[in-house]
Amino acid sequence: MPPRRSHRADPKQLQQRLLIWYRRNKRDLPWRKTGDPYRILVSEIMLQQTQVVTVIPYYRRFIKTFPTVSSLARAPLQKVLKLWEGLGYYSRARNLHRAAQVIKERWKGKVPSTVEELSALPGIGRYTAGAVASIAFNIKTPILDGNVRRVLCRIFAIRKAPRQAVVQDRLWSLAAEILPEQNVGDFNQALMELGATVCLPRTPSCMICPLRESCRAYQTGLQDRLPIRVKRRTLPHHKMLVALIQNGRGLLIGPRPERGLLAGLWGFPEIDWKEATTSLQIEEAIKNRLGLKTNLLRPLEPVVHTFTHKRITYHPYLFNCISTQNRLPASWQWIPLDKIADYPLPNATRKIFDQIATDRLPLAAEQPAVYRKRKNVLGERQDA
Ligand code: SF4
Repeated sequence: MPPRRSHRADPKQLQQRLLIWYRRNKRDLPWRKTGDPYRILVSEIMLQQTQVVTVIPYYRRFIKTFPTVSSLARAPLQKVLKLWEGLGYYSRARNLHRAAQVIKERWKGKVPSTVEELSALPGIGRYTAGAVASIAFNIKTPILDGNVRRVLCRIFAIRKAPRQAVVQDRLWSLAAEILPEQNVGDFNQALMELGATVCLPRTPSCMICPLRESCRAYQTGLQDRLPIRVKRRTLPHHKMLVALIQNGRGLLIGPRPERGLLAGLWGFPEIDWKEATTSLQIEEAIKNRLGLKTNLLRPLEPVVHTFTHKRITYHPYLFNCISTQNRLPASWQWIPLDKIADYPLPNATRKIFDQIATDRLPLAAEQPAVYRKRKNVLGERQDA
């Protein structure tokens, strides 16, 4: 039986080995070529919940468009969201935009350097504040993201689920205890890099790991079993009807609510399937909400999107607008197909739109006979 007490790695040895390994093996990433705190901040926000390979082109485009805090602070939010389109977790873009405005106003355009000051900015939590403070300003402060958590759980053979609050506290303490006096930014990045490239979740490459002599999990054969995995709960699944309504000028799109899921992006009208499932009910819902009389033309392919807390299957349908009572909210607009891509759209909306993006208006009905007034459009039990 392996000992139950967590093993104390020699911090000096661990620091030295990890830093040497990092200097030899670190990936050539665009945000590692700069000491500019603003660019490091942008990269850290983009990297939250997102893989490096996905972030690289977004980071390049973003920095090219907004090379300074001031340029980002001055930009319209729609432009920021458009550049963020496809990267997901759009609250990050809104918060980054707001943070740039605070930095410009309160800090005269200079990113603050302490963890406390950084943590006071919109959307910046303990991890991001620590990463920016240590990488951009070499402040001695720990970080704990998913990669570091895994590496520490293995090095110190922590046999409790790492998401527990008490274990989180312990991991933050360990991350602080092993920090060197100098090269803190490199050391923190090295820990993340090791987790991302060597100490992988399912198949850690211990044979090439610079820390295997300090690693309790490796020495006791527990590397494949740590950190303790907690079974993920099944996400609730929702269905949503999406109405692509055309008239002679274009498709109807509008801004999503300012708060909540995908706030600030644009999209087509959505109707909860509990509210309406037959074509008649959907047309009635569109009339009540937008004052438009419509006629269902045909379905498009459903699109499934998984958010952190739920899955939604979007069932898109194409409608003709027959007449309007002029009750459309001012923000809703009829946009030609070739201009819709100029608006920031969520991923699922983009996939729906891509199905007709190269068509010409008016979009034709292909199966009008199938979608009679009382047909249940989800293909489920038909109303009497
Ligand atoms: S020895 Fe293996 S388990 Fe330990 S830190 Fe290295 S890769 Fe991870």
